[in-house]
Amino acid sequence: MRIDLHTHSDRSDGTDPPAELVRRAHERGVDVLGLTDHDTAEGWQEAADAARTAGVTLVRGIEVSCRFAGYGVHLLAYLPDPTYPPLVAELRRVLDGRNERLPATLEKLRDIGIHIGVDDVRAVAGETAAMGRPHVADALVARGVVPDRNAAFGRYLGPQGPAYVRRYAADLETMIGTIAEAGGVTVLAHPWAARHDHSAMDERGLARLKAAGLSGIEVDHHDHPGRTRDALRELARRLDLVVTGSSDHHGTGKPDHELGSLTTAPDQLERLLELASVASASSGRQTPEVLHCSADS
Ligand code: AMP
Ligand code: ZN
Ligand code: FE
Ligand code: FE
Repeated sequence: MRIDLHTHSDRSDGTDPPAELVRRAHERGVDVLGLTDHDTAEGWQEAADAARTAGVTLVRGIEVSCRFAGYGVHLLAYLPDPTYPPLVAELRRVLDGRNERLPATLEKLRDIGIHIGVDDVRAVAGETAAMGRPHVADALVARGVVPDRNAAFGRYLGPQGPAYVRRYAADLETMIGTIAEAGGVTVLAHPWAARHDHSAMDERGLARLKAAGLSGIEVDHHDHPGRTRDALRELARRLDLVVTGSSDHHGTGKPDHELGSLTTAPDQLERLLELASVASASSGRQTPEVLHCSADS
């Protein structure tokens, strides 16, 4: 049983349309797929239709851009009612923040002599609801300024880069509560990824988040070195948090994040889904089902 709970389609900054992502997941032997585009549920319907056809079990989610102790963190929200008004309003603010950031980023690039227009970015961004730095990176690649996304982040778009612009993100503890009210469950994405400051995500910080309603942490992630994973796994055990693992696949946008390359243990998924059904029942909201599908063969 191969369970990959964190992937992106072209509705955010992945490169595959949701249906294609689901088909590829099936080809790669993924039985349970989490679709978790940044700050949007727009890919859910297309992915659900494809999951029924391909025989992949689909867990619908959103990776919400949050802030904790002044730093950006990502929160995986599984199975919330996407129409819950406070959630809709907060995602709107985050998406608006992304769209406002784009012209500011392009202006900073212009200041250092790189002229790219909003249309150049739109041309590479396709169907996305969540315009992001990866799309600016793609536009820089298309212009021949850099060879790939990684180089674009390293030279220009990363937090220390000359074209970095901060944007709005939701308060993490508030968002954990909002997702619970929407009948969903939350897992902290790559909490100790090297490129973020994560000093606030120590045992005390995680205990506080658990008290706010956090269900789990993503331990097996490509941005966590082996020793980091061991330490996080031990923390999760002490705090009784669900442990997940996932590829954080972005299509061709991020090399070495192949679908199913990191996975979640079946007992951990089972626990997460039990917590989700409790959250759903006590919320009184209409939450999405896990689409249980299996290949006929
Ligand atoms: P944004 O949402 O616009 O703040 O951009 C964040 C996205 O950029 C996430 O999907 C990250 O995985 C991606 N990202 C961050 N650093 C890099 C990097 N060095 N190379 C490629 N993608 C990156
Ligand atoms: Zn992404
Ligand atoms: Fe992330
Ligand atoms: Fe992600």
